[in-house]
Amino acid sequence: MSGLKLTNVKKSFGAVEVIRGVDLDIADKEFVVFVGPSGCGKSTLLRMIAGLEQISGGDLFIGEERMNDVDPSKRGIAMVFQTYALYPHMSVRENMGFALRFAGANKAEIETRVAEAARILELEPLLDRRPGQLSGGQRQRVAIGRAIVRHPDVFLFDEPLSNLDAELRVHMRIELARLHQELKTTIIYVTHDQVEAMTLADKIVVLRDGRIEQVGSPLQLYDDPNNIFVAGFIGSPK
Ligand code: ADP
Ligand code: MG
Repeated sequence: MSGLKLTNVKKSFGAVEVIRGVDLDIADKEFVVFVGPSGCGKSTLLRMIAGLEQISGGDLFIGEERMNDVDPSKRGIAMVFQTYALYPHMSVRENMGFALRFAGANKAEIETRVAEAARILELEPLLDRRPGQLSGGQRQRVAIGRAIVRHPDVFLFDEPLSNLDAELRVHMRIELARLHQELKTTIIYVTHDQVEAMTLADKIVVLRDGRIEQVGSPLQLYDDPNNIFVAGFIGSPK
């Protein structure tokens, strides 16, 4: 079980409060999408959930466990960023297995997990290539593969498609929906793209200036936006 619960979560950088009391329930295996203008705190929230940023106030639970002070490696979370650096001198196979070596996995286990991720992401024919021999979409799939091999309970995606061209984004969107079906994990996904949000989300969280403006299913937000700000983000004419 890997639902998440945030209660009155806050974050300050120096005197500036950038996350200003967020309450949010995420169900196990739910696909939740964060949207909102640049600077509203989407990445900061993800980074706090991942443990890359200390929480200034409030509580974060993953499953039953309070995670505020738990080491990032012990949260059962894997994060995929917008800019992902693959190791240029390593093959796809080595890129995907690399982190597992440090986690103490043995060779057979690494092989099994890499093979599984390669199958899911249709990277099998590319395992011996180097990143320089891959397209943008293929490289992004390798970055996702590095997360999959860790068997996380929760995936965090921070605008993972925003560096890809339009056609690839559509393709990757379909892949991500399939991935969620197949892996059956909880996903929190940040995007600027309304179509991405509407098609992928079970639940959309609209953020504004460090607070939640509205939470709902894509249809709920489309049919009944609380205000013109939400309507603007979801694309319905309020
Ligand atoms: P988003 O991802 O929605 O664009 P961010 O979470 O990156 O927004 O940033 C939210 C706010 O926090 C912004 O005003 C940003 O400038 C500020 N911020 C983010 N990280 C830091 C940091 N390490 N130090 C100071 N301010 C930061
Ligand atoms: Mg961001």
